[in-house]
Amino acid sequence: LSKVFQRRGNPPVHAVAGIELAVAEGELLGLLGPSGCGKSTTLRMIAGLEEPTAGDIRIAGRSIVALPPHERNIAVAFENYALFPPLTVEENIAFGMRARKEANPRQRTREVAQRLGISSLLDRKPGGLSSGQKQRVSLARAIVRKPSVLLLDEPLSHLDASEREQTRRELKYLQRETGYTTVLVTHDQHEALSLADRIAVMDGGIFKQIGTPDEVYDAPANLF
Ligand code: ADP
Ligand code: MG
Repeated sequence: LSKVFQRRGNPPVHAVAGIELAVAEGELLGLLGPSGCGKSTTLRMIAGLEEPTAGDIRIAGRSIVALPPHERNIAVAFENYALFPPLTVEENIAFGMRARKEANPRQRTREVAQRLGISSLLDRKPGGLSSGQKQRVSLARAIVRKPSVLLLDEPLSHLDASEREQTRRELKYLQRETGYTTVLVTHDQHEALSLADRIAVMDGGIFKQIGTPDEVYDAPANLF
């Protein structure tokens, strides 16, 4: 899979320069690398927000690159929260469930909200929330959707240290319980090592190593 950005008057940017990876069903794959290495572009291509320059993306054996985002059944929680300002937190979280007429939106919303420590915010509007609170609302909204693939781009980056420990733990449990196949982007080594089943170490648009946290930590493939 690759992505080249062409902008007039600028040299082409090889944001993703040929990567190949299979994520197992139910696996939490951590995409770890420094800023600018191509993590978000990779996630955006899976979500359908960016068109690959070359390559293919398959879910359960079926190519999805020709499908528009809403037909991919992929839930995303990106760094920019994209919450609807006029809706309450509860309405934001339940929005997708209600649109698809799923069962028990209220109960599921309350459960996930409790797990992520945002129960007391359900009646509030996003405007008055801290960035860490907004980020947890966005995470809750992605998790309640029952997607076939869950994509998380730096989902804990705006949380303070105490919120982060707790939310990281709950995120891990929720992912285990739900069994969602998950790709989690982070530049935080600690986060990748503690959350991921396997880590893809990314730099300059390519993978430097793919392995379990133990393998990457104990036997790094290269100096990077
Ligand atoms: P990361 O998420 O790892 O920080 P990104 O995937 O956002 O990295 O970006 C990878 C590279 O692609 C960077 O050099 C970035 O500047 C470039 N890039 C990302 N989006 C665009 C775009 N829409 N147009 C041009 N260049 C882009
Ligand atoms: Mg990014």
